[in-house]
Amino acid sequence: MKILSNVLDREYLKHKEDYDRKAIEVLQSGWYILGNEVESFEKEYALYTGTEYCVGVASGLDALVLAFRALGIGEGDHVIAPANTYIASIMGVTINGATPVLVEPDEYYNIDVAKIEDAIDEDTKAILAVHLYGQPADMERIMQIAEKHHLKVVEDCAQAHGAMQNGKKVGSFGDIACWSFYPSKNIGAFGDAGAITTNSAGLAESIRVLRNYGSEKKYYNQVIGYNSRLDEMQAGFLRIKMRYIDEIIEEKNRIANYFLEHIQNDKIMLPKTVEGLRHVWHQFVVYTEKRDELADYLAANDIGTSIHYPIPPHLAEAYKELGHREGDFPITERYAKHILSLPSYNGMTHEEMTYITDVLNEY
Ligand SMILES: *Cc1c(COP(=O)(O)O)cnc(C)c1O
Repeated sequence: MKILSNVLDREYLKHKEDYDRKAIEVLQSGWYILGNEVESFEKEYALYTGTEYCVGVASGLDALVLAFRALGIGEGDHVIAPANTYIASIMGVTINGATPVLVEPDEYYNIDVAKIEDAIDEDTKAILAVHLYGQPADMERIMQIAEKHHLKVVEDCAQAHGAMQNGKKVGSFGDIACWSFYPSKNIGAFGDAGAITTNSAGLAESIRVLRNYGSEKKYYNQVIGYNSRLDEMQAGFLRIKMRYIDEIIEEKNRIANYFLEHIQNDKIMLPKTVEGLRHVWHQFVVYTEKRDELADYLAANDIGTSIHYPIPPHLAEAYKELGHREGDFPITERYAKHILSLPSYNGMTHEEMTYITDVLNEY
C-alpha cells in the first residue's frame, strides 16, 4: 500500500456532481468576479462562524495583510505573535511594516498565554493568535489580556475552520479573523482563496475597499488598495464544501481518535489536547526524538509525511533583519526538529489508517 502525505481529490470525488454542476453554472453565468456566489458565500460563512461580516479575499496571507492594514497597524508598532507558526502569519505583520514580538509555544504547540504579558511594551498594538493544527489557542485568556492592555486581537484561523473554545467558534473572539481556503486546508477551495470575518462594520468596509483597488465606487479611489478578490468559481465551490463542513470535521476527528487510540510506541509522542475545545485536526502531529529517522522509516514503507514547519519564522532567511539567532526560542526550535505530520486527509480509508498504525507500532 502506498500512502501520500496528503490527498486532495477524495473530498471532490465524494461530491463530484455538485462541484461539476457548480463549475458549469458559474462558467455559464457570464459573471466571474464579485457576484452572487461571493455575496452568498460571505453571508453563509459569517453565519457559520458566528460573526456579523465576512469579506472574501484572494488568500489567507492577503487576509492577514489587509487585516493589519485596516486596523492601522504599521511602522513602529509591535504585534505579539507566536514564534511557532507558519511564516505567513508573521508576514501579515511585517508586510505592513510592523514588528512581530515572538512568544514561545506551550505543550499544545499554540502561543503560551502565560508568557504574553512579559512581551507587551508601550509600542504593542495587537496580539496575533494562531490556532495551529486546528486546536484553538486559549482565546478566553488572550481576550482578557488584550482588554487589560487595550490591544487589538487578530485571529489567524487558516487551520481551524469550525474549531471552538467552550462552544464559541474561533474567529468570533478577536477584532478580526483571517481565513485561508488553500486546497490543503480543512475547508479548501480548488485554487487560492481567503476571507476575513469581523463584527465591526467599519473594518469590514475597510477590507471591502482595500481588496478592490481602494475603491468603493468604481474608478473613485479613496486609498491605494490591492487587487485581492475571491472569485466566483472558488466562492461557488466553497459554498458546496460548507454544506459538508461538519462531516469533514467529524471525519478528521475520527482519524485522529483512531491514531490516538491505536498508535502505541514509546518512541512516538502523540499530540495532546486541551479540555473544553473542539479540535478540528487540520494536522496530526507527532513528536519523536529521531524525527528524520522516523520519516525515512515511514517513507521506506511507502508512507509519506510532512513537517509543519521545519524552519521557524525567526530563523528563516527572509527574517534575518529581525536579528534573531538560533537559541532565541528554544521550545519552538526543538519542535521544528522533532515534529512530524502523519497523513490524515479526508477520505482516508480504514485500511490506510490501520496500515499507518501498524507500521508505526513496529518502528
Ligand atoms: C495556510 C496558512 C496561511 C496562509 O494562507 P494562504 O491562503 O496559503 O495564503 C496563514 N496562516 C496559517 C497558520 C496557515 O496555515
